Amino acid sequence: MTQPQAHHEPHGNGLGARLNWLRAAVLGANDGVVSTAGLVVGVAGATDARGTLLTAGLAGLLAGSMSMAAGEYVSVSTQRDSEKAALATEKRELQETPEAELAELTGLLEGKGLSREVAREAAVQLTERDALRAHAEVELGIDPDDLTNPWHAAGASFLAFTVGALLPLLAIVLPPSSVRLVVTVVSVLAALALTGWWSARLGAASPGPAVLRNMGGGAVAMAVTYVAGELLGAAGV
Ligand SMILES: [Zn+2]
Repeated sequence: MTQPQAHHEPHGNGLGARLNWLRAAVLGANDGVVSTAGLVVGVAGATDARGTLLTAGLAGLLAGSMSMAAGEYVSVSTQRDSEKAALATEKRELQETPEAELAELTGLLEGKGLSREVAREAAVQLTERDALRAHAEVELGIDPDDLTNPWHAAGASFLAFTVGALLPLLAIVLPPSSVRLVVTVVSVLAALALTGWWSARLGAASPGPAVLRNMGGGAVAMAVTYVAGELLGAAGV
């Protein structure tokens, strides 16, 4: 089982892994901003009652952050399970067919640009030192000592979403009712400009289009839910 693209994936403590975490955190916060903003702006279209806005916003914050955490927990657990299964298979193959595994490792190292002789020598040395680690890293692209912890991933998602969701929640609840919509829309669009810019920078993409797309998405979400809330409010539902 070879995964050529995995060879470019940095290992757990590398810069790339930290960037991935940071990008996930920015996207999680962005999600919290947009979904909670859509929710509270929609409710504000229907009612002026601060208690209702607070209840709706808080429920949205908790529902969203727990949904994100649960989804992340499930997805990282599954990934971890398949990584553990792959490591177990590798361990068994190393015990049962060591020669074939040595040839495989030699081939993989040759594929990285080493000559046949050097690849063979490197494979022999890596196998003597820690055969399972060598196969995990070169063949599977994983660090056997640093599999992602699903609880950490879930906690990080929960936190990121919550931080994002707090902004529209506070912006709709704290100001007087005459300006709460303006305050919310402006602060949400400013936050989305920031997260759009930041995630583009982390992905080494050009920030301009990312900022516009991100603000546009949030603006559409708020406009749609506001109109829906207005219509429901006017209908006396
Ligand atoms: Zn192998």
